[in-house]
Amino acid sequence: MKRQVSLEEISDGRLYGPNDMVRADCGGCEGCSACCMGMGNSIQLDPYDVFRLMSGLGCTFEKLLGSCVELSLSDGVILPNLMMKGEKEACAFLTKEGRCSIHAFRPGVCRLFPLGRYYEDGAGPKKEFRYFLQVHECRKEKRAKVKVSRWLDTPDLKRYERYVLDWHNYVESAAEANRRERGSEDEVRERVRGRSLELLNRFYREPYRMEEDFYPQFYERLGRSHQ
Ligand code: SF4
Ligand code: SF4
Repeated sequence: MKRQVSLEEISDGRLYGPNDMVRADCGGCEGCSACCMGMGNSIQLDPYDVFRLMSGLGCTFEKLLGSCVELSLSDGVILPNLMMKGEKEACAFLTKEGRCSIHAFRPGVCRLFPLGRYYEDGAGPKKEFRYFLQVHECRKEKRAKVKVSRWLDTPDLKRYERYVLDWHNYVESAAEANRRERGSEDEVRERVRGRSLELLNRFYREPYRMEEDFYPQFYERLGRSHQ
């Protein structure tokens, strides 16, 4: 989810690459589960997150919807996010003991935290992104230094980062196409809705071949049509 705040307000003022050391390691969280509660719709799921969830849980996207995942509007684009439930507004995957029940296949945002992604300013497709440390988000005060790539705990990080960038640019272009729509209110609403549903169907609802690599399937879908 995009945030309209300056980097200086929320970070230590530095940008990090995968080989940099960053003070992000909260040492297994030790009884804290604060960032798994009350997150609203901010833990967005990209297609790879959903692929990992479907593979790990052995279920379909439709099965995830309504039980642990919901759909929300973000910049005019409908995207799935982790659902927060109950009085504590806890993630559906948080156990009574305060642990993540899907740690091995948790979403990218959960792997990042308390890091965030920073995309360069300006219009048009982005060529790269960097990481930043969110200094006000994690409750643990004394965090250890850890290499960014180790913290992300994601196989084939180079390929993953390329995918993250391509997906970011795609969603941005859909949002931009929505903003450019002209016509009557009804016409604009209908075209924006059609674009959102097409994105949702193509990248989330249409079944993936779970026994195969995710990335070629994603890029086949990405190259299929234009907004
Ligand atoms: S707030 Fe920090 S210490 Fe607490 S669960 Fe989240 S990452 Fe772990
Ligand atoms: S998926 Fe796991 S790490 Fe992520 S919010 Fe839910 S319980 Fe926390």
